[in-house]
Amino acid sequence: MTEDVDREWAELLSPRRRKLFAAAAGVLATPALAQSPWGYETYKQATPRPNSVRPGEQSLPAKPRAYTDIESYHAHIYFDEDSHQKAALIRKWVAERFKVELGDWNLEPRGPHVTPSFYFGFTNELLPVIVPWLQLNSLGLTILIHPNTEDPRADHLYYALWVNRAQPVNGYGIQKPGPGEPRVEQIFPNTRPSVAIEKSS
Ligand code: ZN
Repeated sequence: MTEDVDREWAELLSPRRRKLFAAAAGVLATPALAQSPWGYETYKQATPRPNSVRPGEQSLPAKPRAYTDIESYHAHIYFDEDSHQKAALIRKWVAERFKVELGDWNLEPRGPHVTPSFYFGFTNELLPVIVPWLQLNSLGLTILIHPNTEDPRADHLYYALWVNRAQPVNGYGIQKPGPGEPRVEQIFPNTRPSVAIEKSS
């Protein structure tokens, strides 16, 4: 017991530790900056007009874009440790009723998705059914519905539909497809629906 305590102290006072302590103390002792690195007249700066971040909208478009640029859709269902059972129920219901590409569980943030999630991809034909179905069957979860075009970053950040409250999407790492990759994200349905979709009688 005494030996353990002695060893603890020996480790704390080792030269390497002392160096670390000294470095930490040095940081704390650094006096506050005498002056803001921005200076004090930032309010006098002109207000430049930023470029549009939305693809194809650097100037006002001459005509609308073809909606047929959308080749398919994804729905990302977000959940956490308190709502995972709701997510599991939605996932089961979807797989039983719709021919979709159902992905794996993501139990940790993945790609642009900052909370646990799962997704399913679906064809354009299903959109008029999937959107109202998710609106009435979200169980309160946040759901991102995004199209798949040639610009996956814009798909997530600028062309999105949300069911319930939106949440942050980290779009900065999203790359356009590389050479040899499909031009637009492809959907390969992998479910075998066995339950008729409920309709009002
Ligand atoms: Zn997606």
